[in-house]
Amino acid sequence: PYRQYIHPTSERSADVKHVHSADVQPLITVIIPFLNEADVLPICHQRVCEALTKLHQHCEILYIDDGSQDGSWDLVSRFKHHLHQVRSLRLSRNFGKEAAMSAGMKAASGRCVILLDADLQDPPEYIPEMVKAWQNGAQVVEMQRRERHGESWLKRATAHCFYRFMSHVSDHPITENVGDFRLMDEKVVKVINTLPERTRFMKGLLAWPGFNRTILQFDRDPRLAGNTKWNYPKLIHLALEGITSFSTKPLRWATMAGMMTSAIAFIMTIIIFTKTLVWGDPVVGYPSTILIILFLGGIQLLSIGVLGEYVGRLFIESKQRPLYVLMEEAMAKPTFKPLDA
Ligand code: UDP
Ligand code: MG
Repeated sequence: PYRQYIHPTSERSADVKHVHSADVQPLITVIIPFLNEADVLPICHQRVCEALTKLHQHCEILYIDDGSQDGSWDLVSRFKHHLHQVRSLRLSRNFGKEAAMSAGMKAASGRCVILLDADLQDPPEYIPEMVKAWQNGAQVVEMQRRERHGESWLKRATAHCFYRFMSHVSDHPITENVGDFRLMDEKVVKVINTLPERTRFMKGLLAWPGFNRTILQFDRDPRLAGNTKWNYPKLIHLALEGITSFSTKPLRWATMAGMMTSAIAFIMTIIIFTKTLVWGDPVVGYPSTILIILFLGGIQLLSIGVLGEYVGRLFIESKQRPLYVLMEEAMAKPTFKPLDA
């Protein structure tokens, strides 16, 4: 499947120029979304370039600055490589990693796309292995975390619960412990680029197209520097968003809870009615009354909340706002037409 083969010893020779010509589609586009990662970006760039160079093919590295404030953009916009095309896009503010990845997938031009975190938790050294799996026929290569180094047991436990719950509620299960680190064929990326929703629950969106899948195991490294951008409120938000944007089952559950309480109420009515008729009407039952009021109140509020979540999604979708706004581009002219064209 090699369209262009550059011999390792001729990397800097004349055919490099030829490879950069507009009609050669890059083998891979590595998409790296980042937010305030100035500490790690230089090492990241170096390691990605080293991994790509092992492939001896013209590749593309696409940095997406998701509104960094720490000078990351100045760094990234000056990155270059003699073999590979380095492009960077800058969003006008922090739109979130999901939007940044979407921007990357629209601008990418490679025959396959790899999503990679800038903090090097997803080691670029796996890229050749992923590409090999792709060349062997997989259209999606999911990278499954074997070990989550540097993450607390609480994070691991909640993540596990979330995956279990998601694969239970969702119609197209998402593989457990597979994050955004993955390779996708251009065909898959083109499908994802046509998905219009504003709420970008990536795990779900990336799983939606299907295609031939392969799972590779890898050990997730701890963050090289800086801090994680996630905290529990954000994770809860993500989980709710994931559930409500990929399943209507909670609505069904609300209905079921309503039916169940109605059934219980019906049975209770009969019991209480008979009791009153047979034994008269002594004024007791304060605890049961309060309990029933609280119970029904709780179920009603919960159901309204669930309903509200979906109405909120509809509201956001109905505004049809763009997912992100591009502010600046560096060396952004793709040598090949982008996958979103
Ligand atoms: N990131 C981003 N925009 C955000 C938050 C994070 O582009 O709003 C990037 C971040 O710079 C990193 C990747 O997404 O490259 C993963 O973020 P992080 O390491 O904070 O998440 P974790 O690995 O802890 O899940
Ligand atoms: Mg990270």
